[in-house]
Amino acid sequence: MTDKKSLQTALIHHDYQAPEGFGAFPPAIHHASTVLFENVAALRSGDWKDKSGYTYGLHGTPTTFTLEARLAAIEGGTHCLLAPSGLAAIAMVDFALLKTGDDILLPDNIYHPNRVLGNWLQESMGITARYYDPLAGAGIAELIQPNTKLIWTEAPGSVSMEVPDLPAICAAARAKGVVVALDNTWSAGIALRAFELGVDIVVQALTKYQSGGADVLMGAVISSDDSLHERLSASHMRLGLGVGADDAYLVMRGLPTLKLRFDAHDAGARTVAAWLKARPEIVRVLHPAFPDCPGHETWRRDFTGAGGLFSVLFDERYSEAQTDRFVDSLTLFKIGYSWGGPNSLCVPYRMAGMRRDWNTDGGAGGTLVRFNIGLEDPRDLIADIEAALATLAD
Ligand SMILES: *Cc1c(COP(=O)(O)O)cnc(C)c1O
Repeated sequence: MTDKKSLQTALIHHDYQAPEGFGAFPPAIHHASTVLFENVAALRSGDWKDKSGYTYGLHGTPTTFTLEARLAAIEGGTHCLLAPSGLAAIAMVDFALLKTGDDILLPDNIYHPNRVLGNWLQESMGITARYYDPLAGAGIAELIQPNTKLIWTEAPGSVSMEVPDLPAICAAARAKGVVVALDNTWSAGIALRAFELGVDIVVQALTKYQSGGADVLMGAVISSDDSLHERLSASHMRLGLGVGADDAYLVMRGLPTLKLRFDAHDAGARTVAAWLKARPEIVRVLHPAFPDCPGHETWRRDFTGAGGLFSVLFDERYSEAQTDRFVDSLTLFKIGYSWGGPNSLCVPYRMAGMRRDWNTDGGAGGTLVRFNIGLEDPRDLIADIEAALATLAD
């Protein structure tokens, strides 16, 4: 076939055909911007919303459709849309459901960039963004206005760890026709059956556990209602949200070990948290599986696991400079955002600047420090923390 063509053309048109009769476990990685149509009629009848066919790389390839289907199945939903980050997935939801004059409710402990987006919607788009106590439960009903279109939830809040009563919030929202979106990243979609609790839309930062390697940024929006999915996919299309095939493959590669890794993070985190709970430097362990944590009983009722992320409150006799020195003294724990990868991480937070209300039981407790327990041996992690705690005494 290459005989009559110039080298330039021959470099592009070659004879490669995918091998027939080749079976293997990994799904193929299909790279495409252009998707080819058989003829003009096929091009004209192509519908980007119809996932039984392909129209353009941005709207999906066999690789991304396979990942979407697997994520929807894990979460117990029917539809999934991929976005280039967890935050882009959050934005997809807001831009699908909101217009000028609408109102949204966000929990006071929401993932901070979601709050930044909510505040921007308020400042620039004529949408009101109001914050509610994450433990409001059924009390959310009193906050719902005729123009409230969306209630964000996060279970638990990924810094201060309050566990919301999702069934109560969802029932109140449903009674008034308001959509509930849940940021379900903490549970990786495997330790909380969000749709069974009444949630309408689930967002996952696949950047965390699904990727598992601290090397991919990706998000997903999962739903189980056809008309909601249609609004979400229109938003996905308008915002031009697509993901690269290699990244989709990397996330898919992590899925078979998702539960094993999650359970290992969970066991390690509970071991480290229990050790910290016995330490005199720590006044509270904010881990949903521990009774200190606001919403612990709700966690027991609704969740089947916990993963690797939790926080502690240092005794208020320690200054911020001292707790900073503690964090700086850790060697196995590295300093950085995100979680869900094999490496343990530690971040101190300045809570007052992040919240409308931050008064842990009347102010008991000093600096909040968040731990992400990776996949190292918990005994080594504890030894690392013990040595760093010793620096507080100096
Ligand atoms: C990390 C994270 C996100 C955003 O994910 P990115 O891919 O980093 O944009 C959203 N929600 C929660 C709870 C997260 O931890």
